[in-house]
Amino acid sequence: AKEAGRATYRFFTPELNRRASDRMWTENNLRRAMANNELELHFQPQFSLDDRRLVGAEALVRWRQPDGTLIMPGQFIPVAEDTGLILPLGDWVLGEACRRVSELLRHRDLLIAINLSAVQVRRPGLAERVAGWLSAYGIPPSALELEVTESVLMDESDVVSETFSQLREMGVPLAIDDFGTGYSSLAYLKRFRVDKLKIDRSFVSGLRADDPDSGAIAEAIIGMARSLRMQTLAEGVETEEQYNCLAAMGCDQCQGYLLGRPMPYEDFLEFVRRDVAT
Ligand code: C2E
Ligand code: CA
Ligand code: CA
Ligand code: CA
Repeated sequence: AKEAGRATYRFFTPELNRRASDRMWTENNLRRAMANNELELHFQPQFSLDDRRLVGAEALVRWRQPDGTLIMPGQFIPVAEDTGLILPLGDWVLGEACRRVSELLRHRDLLIAINLSAVQVRRPGLAERVAGWLSAYGIPPSALELEVTESVLMDESDVVSETFSQLREMGVPLAIDDFGTGYSSLAYLKRFRVDKLKIDRSFVSGLRADDPDSGAIAEAIIGMARSLRMQTLAEGVETEEQYNCLAAMGCDQCQGYLLGRPMPYEDFLEFVRRDVAT
């Protein structure tokens, strides 16, 4: 047993050490990064599926280091959630998104989707923060859409249901992100009455025109959403074949590398301007 223990120790330690020190580095530097304005929002365009019209964008956070290197959210959002830094970070995202929306609305009607962490939704006062940013930038609640994952719906706490009903009363649309990958019961969907389901990329990537089974889950989600009067948006659409399958199923909207990657604000603004001109 002692031999085996030592072998395990030798095998796992370098990897665990590396991950622990990555996390420590991230935690130590993220605070400074926020103070130094190193975070930025990129925007990935979203389209109506029947006519490929631009309808909005999802705001995705990135960390631009002083040397120009871009750190992706997968590397720092989980650390921010564990350390509580997600609260100031999430509030910055909300404010920055509203600032950008107020500029974008001068060019075109758009809907900007913002990711909320479960930690943010479980903390009292989120609806007030959103209301504060909306009025600070003078934008209508219908110009935003707040994305939460299924796990948030299953939260039993009064805080979550109170926040959801406040946001709904304010007229801020709500979407379920990565739909189909969590464990939510369909009953929760009726209880919380969200506006949109975002079909996870894992149900989109395998779509084949010559294989009806490949679309079984996406089709079931679209059918259910329709009967509950919710919109659907397919994530991670990379090919024309996937696009055509989703169009045939009656999916409402899509986003993905096929029609547009996440891009810095200035590039998205250019994208919107070109769209207005055509
Ligand atoms: P998500 O909300 O599911 O965002 C979609 C992710 O898929 C983005 O990764 C996007 O760049 C990527 N993606 C978009 N289209 C395609 C495609 O066609 N193919 C493939 N392979 N990927 C595609 P990103 O930007 O690295 O974000 C990762 C995750 O980080 C997000 O997943 C979201 O959960 C989280 N995140 C990003 N920004 C924020 C934020 O402001 N707040 C919070 N709480 N979480 C955020
Ligand atoms: Ca999202
Ligand atoms: Ca997603
Ligand atoms: Ca995700």
